Amino acid sequence: QAKAAGRRTWQVYSADMDESVRRRATLTSLLRRVLERDELTVVYQPRYSLRDRRVVGAEALLRWRTPELGAVPPDQFIPLAEDTGLILEIGEWVLKEACATLRQWREAGLHGLRMSVNVSAIQLLRGDLPGTLTRILAETGVASGLLELELTESAIMANIERSASVLHACRALGVGVAVDDFGTGYSSLAYLKRLPLTTLKIDREFIGDLTRDPDDEAITSTVITMGHSLALTVVAEGVETAGQLQLLREQGCDEIQGHYIAAAMPRDECLAFIRQQEALPA
Ligand code: C2E
Ligand code: MG
Ligand code: MG
Ligand code: MG
Repeated sequence: QAKAAGRRTWQVYSADMDESVRRRATLTSLLRRVLERDELTVVYQPRYSLRDRRVVGAEALLRWRTPELGAVPPDQFIPLAEDTGLILEIGEWVLKEACATLRQWREAGLHGLRMSVNVSAIQLLRGDLPGTLTRILAETGVASGLLELELTESAIMANIERSASVLHACRALGVGVAVDDFGTGYSSLAYLKRLPLTTLKIDREFIGDLTRDPDDEAITSTVITMGHSLALTVVAEGVETAGQLQLLREQGCDEIQGHYIAAAMPRDECLAFIRQQEALPA
C-alpha cells in the first residue's frame, strides 16, 4: 500500500517535472528565434510627477507573443533569456527600441521626457554596456540624460565590484541609474553609497495596502526620506488608487507609476496619452 502510494506520488511529481522541463525547452528554442521572427514588442508605462502633475517619462517593458504559445509574460522568459545568454541581444534590442521612442517623442515636439529601461545582471556582468549605450545613443541622436537604467538589488549584488564600475561608466555617459523593486532584496544598504544612483523605485509590494497598513506607510515614508537625503529621485510603483497617490504626495514622493495613471501601452498609444495629458490644465 505504502509502496504503491509512494510510487504514485513519484509518478505525479515526475509528470509535473516533465511538463515544466518540456515547457522550458520549448520556450528556450522559441526564444532563440525571437528576434529573427520579430515577435518582441516594447510597451511603455507612463511615469507621473506628483509635483508637476504631469507625465515626465515612461518605463519600457518587454512583451513576447508567439503563434505557438500566445503571450508569454516577462517573468517567465526573462530568466530563460538570462540563462541562455540571449538577454544580451534582446536587451540591446530593447535599448534601441526605447531610444527610437525617445526620438519619436522629441520629433513630436515633446521635449524632456525620460525613458527607463530594465537591465539584467548578465548585461552588467558579461556585456559591454557602456559601449552598447555609446553606440545606440550616437545612432539615435538621443540625449543621454533622458535615459535611465533600472537594476534590481539582486542584479547589482551579483557582483558589486563589477556593477559599481560598469554603472560608473554608464553615469559618466550621462545615463541615469535606478534601483528597481527597492526593499524586496536581501542586500545591505551599504551598496547604496558605492553606486552612482539617481533614482529609487519603491516596490509595489509596499504600495498595495499602503492606505490600510501603518507598517507600509512607515516603510514608504522612511524610504522617501532616505532617498531624498541621498539626493535621489523616489518613484513608487504599482499605484492603483487615488488614496495611494494622495498619501505618497503627502509623504513627498517625487513620481509614481501604476494602473491609476496608466498601464503599459504601445508606442503610439503612449504618445497620444502624453499629448492628451499635456493639453490638460495642471
Ligand atoms: P518591473 O521592472 O518592476 O516592472 C513593473 C511591473 O509591474 C510590470 O510588469 C508592470 O506591467 C507592472 N505594473 C505596473 N503598474 C502596475 C499596477 O498598478 N499594478 C500591478 N499589479 N502591476 C503593475 P511586467 O511588464 O509584467 O514586467 C515584469 C518584470 O519583468 C519587470 O518588473 C522587469 O523586472 C522584467 N522586465 C520587463 N521588461 C524587461 C526588459 O526589457 N529587460 C529586463 N531585463 N527585464 C524586463
Ligand atoms: Mg522596472
Ligand atoms: Mg519594479
Ligand atoms: Mg519586478
